Amino acid sequence: MKTSIATVSISGNLREKLEAIAAAGFDGIEIFEQDFIAHDGSPKEVGAMVRDHGLEIMLFQPFRDFETLPEPFRGKAFDRAERKFEVMQELGTDLVLICSSVHPKALGGIDRAADDLAELGERAAKRDLRIGYEALAWGRHVNDHRDAWEIVRRADHSNVGLIVDSFHTLGRKLDPNSLRSVPGDKIFFVQLADAPAIDMDLLYWSRHFRNMPGEGDLDVTGFMQAVMATGYSGPISLEIFNDMFRGGNTRQLARDGYRSLIDLMDQVARAEPELSLSTPPVPAPQSPDGVAFIEFATRGKEAEALQSLLEQLGFTLTGTHRNKAVSLWQQGETRIVLNKETEGHAASSWNARGTNVCDIGISVQDAADVITRAEKLGDNPFGQPLGPGEASIPAIKGLAGSVLHFMNAETAVQEVWQSEFVASNTEPGNAGLTRIDHIAQTMSYEDMLSWSLFYSTLFEMKKSAMVDVVDPDGIVRSQALETMDGKFRITLNGADTHRTLAGAFLSETFGASVQHIAFATDDIFETLQTLIGNGFKPLPISSNYYADLEARFVIDPELLKRMKSMNVLYDEDESGSFFQCYSEMTGFGVFFEIVQRQIDYAGYGGANAPFRIAAQKRMVRPKGVPAT
Ligand code: MG
Ligand code: MG
Repeated sequence: MKTSIATVSISGNLREKLEAIAAAGFDGIEIFEQDFIAHDGSPKEVGAMVRDHGLEIMLFQPFRDFETLPEPFRGKAFDRAERKFEVMQELGTDLVLICSSVHPKALGGIDRAADDLAELGERAAKRDLRIGYEALAWGRHVNDHRDAWEIVRRADHSNVGLIVDSFHTLGRKLDPNSLRSVPGDKIFFVQLADAPAIDMDLLYWSRHFRNMPGEGDLDVTGFMQAVMATGYSGPISLEIFNDMFRGGNTRQLARDGYRSLIDLMDQVARAEPELSLSTPPVPAPQSPDGVAFIEFATRGKEAEALQSLLEQLGFTLTGTHRNKAVSLWQQGETRIVLNKETEGHAASSWNARGTNVCDIGISVQDAADVITRAEKLGDNPFGQPLGPGEASIPAIKGLAGSVLHFMNAETAVQEVWQSEFVASNTEPGNAGLTRIDHIAQTMSYEDMLSWSLFYSTLFEMKKSAMVDVVDPDGIVRSQALETMDGKFRITLNGADTHRTLAGAFLSETFGASVQHIAFATDDIFETLQTLIGNGFKPLPISSNYYADLEARFVIDPELLKRMKSMNVLYDEDESGSFFQCYSEMTGFGVFFEIVQRQIDYAGYGGANAPFRIAAQKRMVRPKGVPAT
């Protein structure tokens, strides 16, 4: 199945777009008239430039306000079409999209529209061109793909077909299954877009808020299943209008688009295997069993500070790498690796960002399959030269320079931890931190969709709704991705401005992503008692917080007192309750969190985030300003 993207979907000038689209792996493009009207070159040159990039022009779009016009408008519309046909021939494409008319003079009438299309089809046929008719959701008389199909059916011309667009069907809440009765060879082209569920004017929603399949809330998979059921075998193409994308990173957007199409077709194949798609099989997305390890690139004073914080948190040094300046810190099955190497990935990550999380290890059932899936989705494998006796842990490059390793939890102990590290005489710590509950990653708001698409397509993970977290200096958008069983959880925090805590972290670390790591405990008070005994200092929470808590929830006064004394925050949802406590902020902007989920509490204490941020901001004062 060929993949395509409308040039209008991404930012850049035409040449930048083509380079990014070709590099992402697409077979072709839909060319938008505006794109080459603005380009300095004839349609013939544009066509050659597209082909030089190894791309095909699969569709020329759009041709508007054509059908059911009275004379003299009708004649003029045909003249306009002939001129477009000439441009298409120069460009080297044979298919044009005609979208249903919004012309105030359009008369309507299914047969009148069919007659117009049949006549235009006849003219197109003389030039070996084809026309595809699309129902715009806001078309004046035709705004439903079923009516568009009836017009195409009655036009009864081999050069006239239907073009369907998931946005126009799903945006109007039309049942995509009504497409299943259209013959596949009469669907000439399929355009795809998703969109967030926002109740607003259809035209405005479409022009500004469309996004890649999987990034929004529309059932694009269900739509595509219906299309595939018809026997359709033409290209699938992205047509996305999104303000953020127009100003975004061209290459990343193209990669996201390609990724979304591969994942979409994989989902279709899994939902209805009978449709026997011709796309090569992609290994199924796995549900990770958790975080296998977190690796920090660190040096000098920051490394010392990080080590002593880990000790306070109850971690012990259980191993030292045979060949490298790398140490392993452990508590139960939670592993933290400190990498002080001066060469390789960790070193370059440290050079760019100072102390930061440079690698994340993820426990999966089949690491090789995860890599294959990642590569099909367009990710790049990661590798660096191995020293003697070092195992190659399958890895890919994630977003923002991060590296993700995949390992099977059982075999990793033997192959990596026991064979590469010289064991110290210390047992893993046991202060009560049982595992990593979640990793919180920060990115700029405009990159958030890329991150959530990355995780939700690579793994079997569900997305929570996006929530706004109020920072005293701005809003941070927050969204969680988690496996169905909750064993692997990531929270994404999208910062708009560098004045927010998340935004300052981004700018000060030059785009590091992991800002905090949350450990789980079964008894937060007992654990904290031990940690505080080790010298751990919880982030001080204002007493106003506890007064507010008392007003919001029914809490035993003794419990409240205990929480207050240990700076523990509290939350509840319909399934359970939640305790959390934060470390103070390290000098390199990372902090730790300790959480206790009671029963099936599903959240992350989002309601407490503003209090946490305020407390952190009180501690991080500009130099020279004394704390009061
Ligand atoms: Mg369209
Ligand atoms: Mg958290």
